[in-house]
Amino acid sequence: MSIAIEIHNATKSYGDKTVLKGVDLTVEAGTVTVILGPSGSGKSTLLRAINHLEQLDEGYVALNGELIGVRVQGDRLKERREKDILRQRAKIGFVFQNFNLFSHLTVLDNVSEAPVSQGAKLKEAREHARGLLTRVGLADKESAYPRQLSGGQQQRVAIARALALEPEVILFDEPTSALDPELVGEVLQVIRGLAGLGKTLIVVTHEIGFAREVADQVVFVDGGVIVEQGSPADVLSNPRHQRTRDFLDKVL
Ligand code: ADP
Ligand code: MG
Repeated sequence: MSIAIEIHNATKSYGDKTVLKGVDLTVEAGTVTVILGPSGSGKSTLLRAINHLEQLDEGYVALNGELIGVRVQGDRLKERREKDILRQRAKIGFVFQNFNLFSHLTVLDNVSEAPVSQGAKLKEAREHARGLLTRVGLADKESAYPRQLSGGQQQRVAIARALALEPEVILFDEPTSALDPELVGEVLQVIRGLAGLGKTLIVVTHEIGFAREVADQVVFVDGGVIVEQGSPADVLSNPRHQRTRDFLDKVL
């Protein structure tokens, strides 16, 4: 197994509030990691750090062993190379809670926009986008605008868009928590399908059933630290820490 993502001592403060307190996490290629934790525990900050949307104060995130823009112990800042960050970010797809689709673009253009802006030929990018829309069950919606779609459909478009640059890793930040309950299943089904294809996925979600079924590792975060991590059976069925038990009692 090769390591897709290695997070070491991830530390981040906003003002005097420390949001990540030295998080270490390893994600093997082709596996699914589910991150759980109460609101405000630092889950989104961690995902954003992986994607370089957030710069850590200390520690690093390596993708396939490659380190860029690292702060060492907060004192010495290596050059943050914008080009390297963009190149690395292109290998990481990001799916947001609120879809973040471009409202003025059709579904097809939403999915093909990034490859086209990175120099792909329009015709080829569209053909590829059509294949991705078929994969998420929306082949018939390519000419629709986001507002004409349900939340579940919009999120499936967002997943197709995240796949358009053929990322090595896909990050999902509470992908179903803005959806009406009856629309959650169709989105989880698409994510399950990606897991089945051997993609490397990191999913922040409170869908415990999904975690039990799909996750290779489950990570429980509270107060900016990893309180507990392990297999779904360990963390979800046999949590060792009271904080994990309290959290699971609330979401189950
Ligand atoms: P989670 O995703 O687990 O709910 P977040 O990572 O979004 O948690 O936030 C962790 C903490 O950091 C929260 O207290 C939040 O208010 C704070 N925070 C997040 N982003 C910012 C920011 N850009 N500026 C200031 N505080 C922030
Ligand atoms: Mg969050």
